[in-house]
Amino acid sequence: MRIIKTTAKTIYTKSGIPGVDYALNQYVGCQFACKYCYAKFICKWKPYGDWGTWVEVKTNAPELARKRVHGEVFMSSLSDPYQPIERELKLTRKTLQMMDKRNKLSILTKSPLVVRDIDLFKLFDDIEVGLTINSFEGKEKQIIEPFTPSQKLRIEALKTLKDEGIKNYGFISPIIPGITDIEAIIKETKGIVDYHSFEVLNLKGAGRKFVEILKENFPESYEIMINEDKFWEFVKELIALIKHLDIKAEGIEVHREGWEVIEVK
Ligand code: SF4
Repeated sequence: MRIIKTTAKTIYTKSGIPGVDYALNQYVGCQFACKYCYAKFICKWKPYGDWGTWVEVKTNAPELARKRVHGEVFMSSLSDPYQPIERELKLTRKTLQMMDKRNKLSILTKSPLVVRDIDLFKLFDDIEVGLTINSFEGKEKQIIEPFTPSQKLRIEALKTLKDEGIKNYGFISPIIPGITDIEAIIKETKGIVDYHSFEVLNLKGAGRKFVEILKENFPESYEIMINEDKFWEFVKELIALIKHLDIKAEGIEVHREGWEVIEVK
């Protein structure tokens, strides 16, 4: 894994993500190297090689984070803030330490390391911490995201956050037809998260290589993803299922022509 130390001019970047005003990326690049990762587009602008083989470390991120910003800050859109290197570098921790605690912060990770910083989360006026849950286990996980922590550890982290009084959420993503088991996820997380949000796989964002992986290993899922009628039928069924599960659901992100968030009422 190549580590590139760099400095940034600013750490709060205006974001196009719905509901998010600023993205905060103290790291760019991710050791978890999920095959579908939407952030891999950034490789076009970075001369370091394939996604998952490098991490850029913005060493002055803590200093830049002192700034007061108005609106929601999302950590992180181009990395996982608690990827393995964080254990040693503590860059995320230092960034949180220095950050203006009045800034509204939403953190998303796949790592149970996040619970290390609960003491800091408690200092913020308005914070929520999410863990991505997608039920990938065994062969599926080996193919789709082999290097991420297990579902069990992520769910335990959500429980710890809840027990410590930190607002938390389960981000159910990516939802892949025939693979992501929504009912099993809800069974294990209902009551331990403040809310769930959902995201159907963004096939275009996942890139050509992932499309090939899906086609080869999960042809039925691929067929639904590429066929408009089958895809929307799947989304319709998903909405009905989520309604039936009687949970607080923030909406379902669907990426086709654009980026749509379908409300589940
Ligand atoms: S953990 Fe997130 S940022 Fe990292 S590779 Fe996976 S999807 Fe991308």
